[in-house]
Amino acid sequence: MVGLQAPGTFTRSRCRGASLSVIFRQFVLFIDRHDPATRQAAIMIDGKIAVIGAGIAGLACARRLIAADVHSIVVDKGRAPGGRLATRVVTLDLGECHIDHGAQYFTAREAGFKRQCVNWLAEGIIEPWTATSQGGDMRYVGRPGMSAIGKAMASGIEIIQGSRVTTLSRRAGSWHLGFADGSGLDGLGAIVLAIPPAQAASLLETVAPGLAEEARSVGLAPCWAGICAFDPPGEPGFKALRIADGGALGWIARSRDGTAWIAHATPDWSRRHLESDAKELAPLMEAAIRTWLPEAGETRFVSLHRWRYALVERAAGTPFAWDESLQLGLCGDWRLGARVECAWESGDALGHALVRTSP
Ligand SMILES: Cc1cc2nc3c(=O)[nH]c(=O)nc-3n(C[C@H](O)[C@H](O)[C@H](O)COP(=O)(O)OP(=O)(O)OC[C@H]3O[C@@H](n4cnc5c(N)ncnc54)[C@H](O)[C@@H]3O)c2cc1C
Repeated sequence: MVGLQAPGTFTRSRCRGASLSVIFRQFVLFIDRHDPATRQAAIMIDGKIAVIGAGIAGLACARRLIAADVHSIVVDKGRAPGGRLATRVVTLDLGECHIDHGAQYFTAREAGFKRQCVNWLAEGIIEPWTATSQGGDMRYVGRPGMSAIGKAMASGIEIIQGSRVTTLSRRAGSWHLGFADGSGLDGLGAIVLAIPPAQAASLLETVAPGLAEEARSVGLAPCWAGICAFDPPGEPGFKALRIADGGALGWIARSRDGTAWIAHATPDWSRRHLESDAKELAPLMEAAIRTWLPEAGETRFVSLHRWRYALVERAAGTPFAWDESLQLGLCGDWRLGARVECAWESGDALGHALVRTSP
């Protein structure tokens, strides 16, 4: 159902859908269309909202929906929620190690995300990150790893994990999601895409070419991440180092438990080797890591992970996009910038717009 009404009017009603077990809600909500100050439009949603992507943006959006009792479901292709806030559990001689191979730490600059961080700190979900003594913003990490954040945010949300959405189609005013395994979800009132822009663009191509074009205009750099464990691990005199020497690596840090090293290749190096096989690249990555750890001993573990869409290079510049006639929204870090906070802000802003009940 689509509706544009004069700002200031609000209606809310309930009706029965095809299934008696489902109560469809009708919301007439007023939002800025990307610019709170200038363009007020009404969002009217009739039916369940599906959020595609359980990264921090999709989860922040879903948390807003669930808090307002809006019927919603999240679908993600990964095994666990969190997206690029990811932790790999590796079994080494010393036992299980938790190694963050995506985002390394995050900062909170805006009031909303600062409040969120205060809550997460109080709940023991995050802790301050003190590996470097540089001044500036306080840095945080998940406890015991970054994936704890996605796990905590997903609590109480209906999520389908391990399902890659391959098609979006609209029939008789409602949305259908098709999954890679041939199954799908029907009868959805609205869709939120909280996935990287290249992946969003390919889903939107036929149903929303305008939004697809906007998504394609945004750029994300890839990143090859390498995890290495050595015995002894090496004592280079730093726990984390940002590197700008024109070589393969842009970042190297010791895992919080001290057992392994995580390194991120630069965007240039990652692009050059984007389609290479992880096994072939492993010796190159190991050698690059060893140049920073001259006293590292025997290699105990090497593993590489390719982040095809890692860091935003060109952002869309607005917190989210919403197409009223299609009942289709886009959010994610790529709307605002290459930071965890940007992803949270984008998802939170779209969720807030979807549940706002007064102008
Ligand atoms: C190597 C690396 C280092 C980083 N370092 C930092 C840092 O130090 N500090 C910082 O603040 N930020 C850092 N970032 C960026 C930060 O991780 C991201 O900005 C943020 O996590 C993005 O969240 P998101 O929800 O927008 O997207 P994502 O986390 O990418 O979530 C998108 C989700 O969509 C799912 N998905 C995609 N396509 C489909 C589909 N077709 N069907 C179903 N599900 C789908 C994916 O599985 C994923 O879970 C780093 C990122 C990387 C990769």
